[in-house]
Amino acid sequence: MGVAYNLTCNHCTYKQNVFLGIGFRYVYVTDILEWYEDSVGKERIREFSKDESTKHVCYDGLYVCNECKFLLNAVYLHMESDSDSYTNSYDCPRCSTVMPSKPIDEEIEVVVLACPGCGNEKLTCQAYMDWD
Ligand SMILES: [Zn+2]
Ligand SMILES: [Zn+2]
Repeated sequence: MGVAYNLTCNHCTYKQNVFLGIGFRYVYVTDILEWYEDSVGKERIREFSKDESTKHVCYDGLYVCNECKFLLNAVYLHMESDSDSYTNSYDCPRCSTVMPSKPIDEEIEVVVLACPGCGNEKLTCQAYMDWD
């Protein structure tokens, strides 16, 4: 189960809803294959789904751009088998820098997030519902 948060800035109009956690269709690699959009990643998932030794980690996380502080709410996926491993990755949609390999995965209330809009610290973060 995941938690949805409201992020708001007290200095400008920045506002974003963020979903973090594990959805019910994240539990099996074969389920992930059904909804995963990126075609390269999807091909990798298909390969791993045929290997019985595959273990995976999948959840919605919040990627923070090191350069411009853009916040990207996206799926983190890591798969590992006896012979192979794969971790998905993202480029920042705003400045094209490679995002950190791991997003924030929980308790963003305790993390100090700078506002991607005006750069001021820190965003107000409020959990507003459970999803899934
Ligand atoms: Zn950026
Ligand atoms: Zn702001």
